[in-house]
Amino acid sequence: MDVFKGQNLLEFSERFKTDLDCKEYLSGIKWKEGFSCSKCGHGAAQIRKDYSRTCNICSHTESATANTLFHKVKFGVRKAFFICFEMATSTKSLSASYMGLRFGVTEKTARLFMHKVREAMESSGNNEMDGNAHVDEFVVGSVEKGKVGRSYDSKKKKAVIAVQLTDKGKVRRM
Ligand SMILES: [Zn+2]
Repeated sequence: MDVFKGQNLLEFSERFKTDLDCKEYLSGIKWKEGFSCSKCGHGAAQIRKDYSRTCNICSHTESATANTLFHKVKFGVRKAFFICFEMATSTKSLSASYMGLRFGVTEKTARLFMHKVREAMESSGNNEMDGNAHVDEFVVGSVEKGKVGRSYDSKKKKAVIAVQLTDKGKVRRM
């Protein structure tokens, strides 16, 4: 897995050309240390075309975006990546109306997603980085508690932008 570093928009858009590129990236981080089924704990899975994984024992399928900020975003993972990139690299505060225009979503959609991103950023700021940290201008990370988005299993980590991994390769924080 490669980790995106830097603030270059052209390089970023080269790296993430499609939703699939983003999913590949997320799955690379998520299962960096190998797969572990969230239902039965089994460690082997089939990798599907969209980079989701299906457990060899119980057939539970987990998508690359599950338990991340990018889960079921209506406007697509790639656009969400770009919004995160813009937020992570911009030196000024960005308004929802500006972001809506920039990324072709409604102001409301932009506001809701930006709120999730900020929440993830803030909650990660409350915890010290430790362990296996990949700290760059742009990577993918997570929050500790089930705060972001809908209610997922609170034990799971959620991925966002800059990333810290636990020993088991779970994404810990942004
Ligand atoms: Zn399983």
